[in-house]
Amino acid sequence: MMKYWSEVAKRCTPYVPGEQLNDSTIIKLNTNENPYPPSPNVQSAIKKEMEQALHLYPSPTVDSLREAIAKQEGTTKESVFVGNGSDEVLAFAFMGLFSPYRTIRFPAITYSFYPVYANLFQIPYEKVPLMSDFTLDETAFFHSEGGAILPNPNAPTSIFTSLDLMENIVKHNPDNVVIIDEAYVDFAPETAVALTHKYEQLLIVKTFSKSRSLAGLRVGYAIGHPHLIEALTRIKDSFNSYTIDRLAIVGAKAAIEDTAYFKQTTRHILQTREWTREQLEERGFSVLPSATNFLFVHHPIYEAEKLYQQLKEKKVLIRYFRNQGITDYMRITIGTDEMMRKFLLVLDQVMEGE
Ligand SMILES: *Cc1c(COP(=O)(O)O)cnc(C)c1O
Repeated sequence: MMKYWSEVAKRCTPYVPGEQLNDSTIIKLNTNENPYPPSPNVQSAIKKEMEQALHLYPSPTVDSLREAIAKQEGTTKESVFVGNGSDEVLAFAFMGLFSPYRTIRFPAITYSFYPVYANLFQIPYEKVPLMSDFTLDETAFFHSEGGAILPNPNAPTSIFTSLDLMENIVKHNPDNVVIIDEAYVDFAPETAVALTHKYEQLLIVKTFSKSRSLAGLRVGYAIGHPHLIEALTRIKDSFNSYTIDRLAIVGAKAAIEDTAYFKQTTRHILQTREWTREQLEERGFSVLPSATNFLFVHHPIYEAEKLYQQLKEKKVLIRYFRNQGITDYMRITIGTDEMMRKFLLVLDQVMEGE
């Protein structure tokens, strides 16, 4: 029935997210969700809002949440944009800050949503190869024609690029927007948010889905110069006035204000990550240095695709990528200690051919 489709519907190639299987017995290590529940304050805030205000539209400007985010990030409300998941923020940023006929750049191995947005909005792009150890060649991002987008830490490689190198990229793109997608930055040494005060072409995008345990609530945000934020707001208001519902507003606000809980769960994930890394190395895997809540690994003998399939048959789900020239690698999300112990038990069975 394609004859009824618009040119846009025909042209786009939708993103394929990691499997979400409806089976609670599966050990799910495939989409980088947080294994811990969100702050208990989230639940009480949502309950209260449900009892009081669901018959009313939410705030189109989301001031209360933007203020709470600004406070945590050391910036002003005018420098914060909130969206329905950072995927939506990224879509608005592609539409609002990149242009057709001006080529943007992103790493050749990276978040596979970027080419999807580029195709949707007809933005030409160049894929910049990584070095052989998967680190970034920062000079290859200098003087782009239409801007650049790169995650830091990168996904799915898990590698963090120092702020000095990232600043160099921003500095060498004075007339174009550089977007840094910091989905995993809370598991890494430092954020580039402070650089937004120095460079008006820099936009940082963050999410509540990973470190704040709120993948199911769909909240992400951007930080940048108010002129950049205004472009995103113009796109949003030409599209949907209320992208963030009332429950998401109060839930995300409660989550970002509970710093103690956030620090505790994040610290625990980092400990589990290092323990899992050692365990995998003992089994002969090489593990890239991770600054995220996942590990990107490969084994010199065992084929990644087979391991992925055999683990899946035994109800352990990890992520395997058939594209981007990383077919020897697997990505493993860090779960609770118990989830990782079970994962390693099943991995041992699979490696021993059981
Ligand atoms: C998870 C992820 C996102 C999307 O996060 P949502 O806020 O859940 O939409 C964006 N970028 C990268 C690199 C991610 O891994």
